[in-house]
Amino acid sequence: MIWEELQSEVDALRAAGLKRERRTLDFPCGPQARVDGRPLISFCSNDYLGLANDPALIDAASAGARTWGVGSGASHLVSGHLTPHAALEQKLADFTGFARALLFSTGYMANLGIVPALVGRKDAVFADRLNHASLIDAVQLSRADSQRYAHGDLAALERLLAASPARRKLILSDAVFSMDGDLAPLPGLLELAERFDAWLVIDDAHGFGVLGAQGRGSIAHFQLPAARRLLYMGTFGKAAGAAGAFVAGDTTVIDWLEQRARTYIFTTAASPAIACALLASLELIASGDARRSRLWQLIAQLRDGLAGTRWRLLPSPTAIQPVLIGDNHETLRVAGALYERGLWVPAIRPPTVAAGTARLRVSLTASHSDEQVALLVDALRELA
Ligand SMILES: *Cc1c(COP(=O)(O)O)cnc(C)c1O
Repeated sequence: MIWEELQSEVDALRAAGLKRERRTLDFPCGPQARVDGRPLISFCSNDYLGLANDPALIDAASAGARTWGVGSGASHLVSGHLTPHAALEQKLADFTGFARALLFSTGYMANLGIVPALVGRKDAVFADRLNHASLIDAVQLSRADSQRYAHGDLAALERLLAASPARRKLILSDAVFSMDGDLAPLPGLLELAERFDAWLVIDDAHGFGVLGAQGRGSIAHFQLPAARRLLYMGTFGKAAGAAGAFVAGDTTVIDWLEQRARTYIFTTAASPAIACALLASLELIASGDARRSRLWQLIAQLRDGLAGTRWRLLPSPTAIQPVLIGDNHETLRVAGALYERGLWVPAIRPPTVAAGTARLRVSLTASHSDEQVALLVDALRELA
């Protein structure tokens, strides 16, 4: 019975055209991909600076593995916290301008750890409606009252905060929204957090390494201070080209997270070789203005190229460039036609995005060539 139930649910997904299928790449992450022996130009990855397969990171990871081994052997609080982890935390604190930083094994785990450590049953979380799934799950896990405000709507958030009797309040938002590519109004969020004595937790998975001076992220982009009530979460699986995450903030709150974030405490520390690769990655991010200007150039090329087509490009200033098509079937059809031409762009449909807003999510990276973007522009213009 229980087995048949699952089987029929999987069958139903397949019948509705909603069953997700993985493709196995026999090529490292980069603009050039190969699936089933077939060459493709990929516009799928979040490797915005093209660091995932960079020789400097590969060397640092190999040298790191030779010096420190592959496994950390334990959680950070037991015996898994090695010198490269400590060096990376210090470097992240310096880089982001906060007093302390704490490493997590993934961004998903960072969010699941941070929110429940800060708020509980008698408290309230105020969350943007378009927040990433990991933030939504984090609120559920915390058992705090979940109040969601319309995307980017500071006036709606202010009304919710003003009406809330909660003992402790926490405002939670993506800094760059992962399916739209737009920025949260961070200065306004911080102002409301100050006024209503709330925590502000910002998830900068898509901004860290890309936005702000030297890629210091969305906080730097808006030139916000390292306020004591502000927690800045960044991830390493996107622009940093590796894996993992961190949260930076005031010493007191990071000390507290070290004691109470369960996804920090009850998991094995990430490989010290990854920490070594990330130390090299931070160097390349900080000195990566050429990579970032290359990215802005390609974004402009795509946006100029698609201007005036039937499909609207969402107003995104970041590497995430969604082409809004609307209808699910048309979106799938266009993605399929692109794939036939060797252009791989993911089709994003409900429930990931709102009904009627299916889209192609084009991700650009500094390692794409002008020619590759031109091929995509030409194909899309023709299909439109
Ligand atoms: C990718 C992403 C995460 C998850 O980070 P991982 O390190 O991949 O687990 C969290 N938040 C946002 C907004 C993301 O885009």
